[in-house]
Formats: sequence, structure tokens, C-alpha cells
Amino acid sequence: TGTESTLPPEIWEKVKNHPCYSEQAHHHFARMHVAVAPACNIQCNYCNRKYDCANESRPGVVSERLTPEQAAKKVFAVASTIPQMTVLGIAGPGDPLANPEKTFKTFELVAQTAPDIKLCVSTNGLMLPKLVDRICQYNIDHVTITVNMVDPEVGAKIYPWIFYEHKRYTGVEAARILSENQLRGLEMLTERGILCKINSVMIPGVNDEHLVEVNKAVKARGAFLHNIMPLISAPEHGTVFGMNGQRGPTAQELKALQDACEGDMNMMRHCRQCRADAVGLLGEDRSDEFTTEKVMAME
Ligand code: SF4
Ligand code: SF4
Repeated sequence: TGTESTLPPEIWEKVKNHPCYSEQAHHHFARMHVAVAPACNIQCNYCNRKYDCANESRPGVVSERLTPEQAAKKVFAVASTIPQMTVLGIAGPGDPLANPEKTFKTFELVAQTAPDIKLCVSTNGLMLPKLVDRICQYNIDHVTITVNMVDPEVGAKIYPWIFYEHKRYTGVEAARILSENQLRGLEMLTERGILCKINSVMIPGVNDEHLVEVNKAVKARGAFLHNIMPLISAPEHGTVFGMNGQRGPTAQELKALQDACEGDMNMMRHCRQCRADAVGLLGEDRSDEFTTEKVMAME
């Protein structure tokens, strides 16, 4: 059931050692995330800002925030300890492209100290068109964009506001700007040969049926993989996460939607929604071994 069987050979060549894309690679290659990006420029109704960005990470988790220098030191420490370390992602705890200086500084430092490590970044896409050229400069292997809608009417139910070019926008207008930037950013990246994966959060009754349309729109713009993730309701965090008690999809509902999209495109089914400071092989979390305190004490 791996993605490997369905990807075109030239793409498979690029991602076969990436633990997130290959069921096989995830036993042999490790990845890590560093949480260097605290700010966000939009509000998702399903987000509780106290925790990691739900666009890529498991919600309800507080990741340890690092400066770019601390992050680079940590990457170096992890790569020296875990030889299978191949991929560094920046996925939060907010939106990496809403913190461009921190995100790009981290990539720059890591490229100097550990040049073999592949870099990836995930984003809500709002700032993509403006930052595509910088992303290309840093030799970023692939980009993940969270696209939950292509219809601003649906978007207005998911995003109460965005902050863009020094201005706050709300409602349908906010969702329209976000959607335009996401889709244009996706096109610009794929034109430049950067692999793009799309994440979508499935929210029953809000965008579940609409995600089939999202799937078509992102495929048409060159995305190589679509990862539909369940909204994870976390009752222990009250109504803050989960749109006022909004339930997540059942496993059957998720699978039915993934199957419905599969005919059109490669679907990713084994993303673990890792925390924004995850370290290690997928399914294992060694982040406790690499706290800032421990890393800073390493020579
Ligand atoms: Fe891979 Fe998904 Fe974890 Fe990112 S969140 S490292 S894509 S499994
Ligand atoms: Fe939260 Fe991420 Fe949405 Fe920003 S993009 S509001 S951090 S889930």
C-alpha cells in the first residue's frame, strides 16, 4: 500500500529515501523537525495557538521552540547520533513562511554544517508567491502546502481571518486571497521543479465533500502527492481545538475519501502527523534525547 507503487519513476527517484513518502524508507531513514517558527499569519478554526500548527503536526502538542542557531546545533547533534538522519523539516509550531528570517536562517546554517541533509518546509501557502525565489535559493527539496478548500465560501467556514500585506482580512475575502496565493504558489513551485505535496485537513460537514474538488485543483497544478489528514478532535483541550466541538472523521470516512481521490492522484496514507520537534524514524520519537539543554551541553 506504499506510495512507491504509484509514483512516476523520476519522482520516485527523488523521494525514495524520504521516510515520509516511502513505507520502506521509513524503516531505514530518519527525519526531524525543528520548531523555529512561532508566528502565524492566518487563523484556522481548528487551531489552538498554544500548540503546534495542525497543518503538519499532531495538534495538542507543545514543541520546544528553538533559535536558528540552536536548531542548527540540534540538527548536527542528531545527525551525528542517528546515522539514518536524512531529512530536516520546518513545520511550525506556527507557519514557517510567516517567520521567513528564522526559517531561512535555519536552512542556511544547516546547509553549512550538514550539507547532505535534505530540507523541506510546510506552509499554509499565504506567503508562497512572494517567497518562492528564496525557497529556490536554499535548495529546498520539497514543500508541503495545506490546502483545505478552493472555494472561498467553504474557506470562510475554516478561516476567520488572515493577515496579509499589513492588513487583516476576514470572511470570504480572506479565504479568496489565501486560496489564490496557495494555488499560485503551488504553480510557481512546480514550474521551478520543486516537489509539492498537499495536505488537507478533513473536517466533516465543512470540507469533506469539497476535498474531491481540491484534489483535482492541486493535481492540475502539478502537486505530486495528496495527504488527506483527519481533523483530530482533542476534547481534553476543550472547544478550542475542533471548531466548537466539531468531530473528526471516522477511519471509514477518511478511507472512503482517500479512495475517491485515488483514481486521480497519488494519495499518501501513512503520514503520522509528527510533532513540530519530532526526531527519529517514523513511529518513534527521540525528541526527549535532544532537548535544548542536552544539545547545548554536547560538544
Ligand atoms: Fe513525514 Fe508526515 Fe511526519 Fe512530516 S508529519 S515528517 S510528512 S510523517
Ligand atoms: Fe494554526 Fe497552523 Fe492554521 Fe496557523 S496555519 S492558524 S499555526 S493550524
